[in-house]
Amino acid sequence: MRFLITGAAGFLGAPLANSLISDGHSVVGLDDLSTGDPDRLSPEVHLVRGDINDRPKLWTLLQGVDCVYHLAARVIVPESVLYPREYNLVNVGGTVTLMEAMRDVGVKRVVFISSGSIYGNQKNQPMKETFRPQPRSPYAVSKLAAEFYIRTIGELWKIETVVLRVFNAYGPEQRLPPAHAPVIPYCIKQALDNGTIVIHGDGKQTRDYVYVDDVADAMVRASMTNDINRLIMNVGSGEETSVNEIAKIVMEISEQKPEIVHNQHHDSGPARMCADISLAHAKLGYQPKISLKEGLLKTMLQDKRFNRNRSS
Ligand code: NAD
Repeated sequence: MRFLITGAAGFLGAPLANSLISDGHSVVGLDDLSTGDPDRLSPEVHLVRGDINDRPKLWTLLQGVDCVYHLAARVIVPESVLYPREYNLVNVGGTVTLMEAMRDVGVKRVVFISSGSIYGNQKNQPMKETFRPQPRSPYAVSKLAAEFYIRTIGELWKIETVVLRVFNAYGPEQRLPPAHAPVIPYCIKQALDNGTIVIHGDGKQTRDYVYVDDVADAMVRASMTNDINRLIMNVGSGEETSVNEIAKIVMEISEQKPEIVHNQHHDSGPARMCADISLAHAKLGYQPKISLKEGLLKTMLQDKRFNRNRSS
């Protein structure tokens, strides 16, 4: 099959592209390289640098494509609070531009990577796809608006749509500006650089952490499975883990035995987030394979600082 991946050079896009290539498929990538890195990609991926709102470029890249994975997006939540217009332009406008180009070229299926953040604060856990979304940031609003556009115009234009709401993905190659680093790269960096992990608040807030290869597996299944048109499915580990637990495992793996310190609380989002993954299991046969401890070890083993500390 031939695929177009938008955001192909990103943290989640690149392992997906590489996995499709190793399964013998043909992959074209579109990425503006704002946060993506072409070095993550197998040389067999045909990567084109460009913007998701560049309609003529999309039109060219979509020729002969069987299915699109749409991942290109701005992804930094605090940045979205400062620049909501930009997040709307790329995450919502870019999605509509892509759908129009798909309609014009006649591409039949899109897998859209949405986010668990659309749920916001929910009293009941784990969260099912039927829960009423309560987005708390312009980023989450943009992902939810894009979901609605994808499904509504997909239905009107007879384009098959599948939406995956990915929870907190982690793994090697997760790079975000240090001030905005998610919990796992933040804890690893602190442990390896400073020997101290500073946790904001009491560290009891929980998230559903899912290893990057398990997310890639869910994405591949979403494009290959029949009779799932219009479905929205959660993709996570199905397990809830606190920041304190993450810090404890990072300490166990790290031979430097870092210290954990708590500082003044600041708003770190919903208190609890855990995905109910039974729908993706039933419809896609999705079952995460990498435990948190194993995933953290794999992530740290690919970190130069970890290996440097071990050999010194
Ligand atoms: P990422 O920043 O590594 O990937 C996004 C990619 O999109 C980057 O390669 C970036 O260069 C590209 N991009 C940004 N703006 C673009 C534009 N205007 N035109 C073309 N390309 C553009 O982040 P990621 O974590 O790999 O996220 C990929 C997708 O997965 C996003 O849609 C994100 O919302 C979604 N997601 C990620 C997570 C997670 O935990 N990483 C969780 C839920 C959802």
